[in-house]
Amino acid sequence: MAEPEGKPDVRAQGLTADSGTAAPRDEQDERAARKQAAARILQRTQPLAALSEEERAAAIARGQALFGRPPTFLKGVADMRQLPPPFAVEVALAGRSNVGKSSLINALFNNKGVARVSNTPGRTRELNYFTLADGAMALVDMPGYGYAKASRALVKKWQALVRDYLRGRPSLRRVFILIDARHGIKPQDEEAMKLLDETAVNYQIVLTKADKMRQDALEKMLRRTAEALAAHPAAHPEIHVTSARKKTGLEALRASMAQLLQKPG
Ligand code: GDP
Repeated sequence: MAEPEGKPDVRAQGLTADSGTAAPRDEQDERAARKQAAARILQRTQPLAALSEEERAAAIARGQALFGRPPTFLKGVADMRQLPPPFAVEVALAGRSNVGKSSLINALFNNKGVARVSNTPGRTRELNYFTLADGAMALVDMPGYGYAKASRALVKKWQALVRDYLRGRPSLRRVFILIDARHGIKPQDEEAMKLLDETAVNYQIVLTKADKMRQDALEKMLRRTAEALAAHPAAHPEIHVTSARKKTGLEALRASMAQLLQKPG
């Protein structure tokens, strides 16, 4: 019986004369390919993945040693003129207020009091310098951005300080940008990343509060973050996933910092 006019012939849908060779890959293949691509992206985000097993163990041991002793608080810098002389290696930790920066710093040192000094009144908008490894390395706790509790003039002042610091500190080897794993990269983080791209300062993302996420959601966030990073020339492709609460991801983060000390210059 002939098909009623106007009704498409479903048997012929999607088939063309050369469908035998040019047919789209079947769905299973596509799903498998997508899964593989996602796994590759995830693999590239793994910190220290480029190292051999031995090198990784050595880096972790160096990280442990580096953070094994509490750091020395050197000074709070409110003005570029107060910057200390350059260090062999300087790393900075930045992020939005409440991202978990203080908790992470304390967890890295296994010492609840370390970050307290940066959070004392008057210091929250300063670059707080801690020294490690007998002064070979400085860890700079940067003021949290995006918390407009202060007056406009004050906010402007510290924004300018942060900008000038990120632009003009040759010994700054890497900025660790902390991102809440639940929220991902926000416009203020983008701004910071753009500035670092422009000044060619290397930076690396550290996801925080990973314990608040289910594994699948965390992987999705990792992939999303990795994809976003692809557009940023100064971004390190490896992403740290941490939880100060559960003390996870700390070994690798310490090791990443210790690695910088291995290859100064
Ligand atoms: P900062 O403003 O960036 O220094 O953030 P804080 O370290 O003060 O942390 C802000 C809030 O997030 C506090 O309530 C912390 O208890 C909480 N927090 C920090 N790190 C973690 C974490 O790893 N897991 C969880 N669940 N909460 C965290």
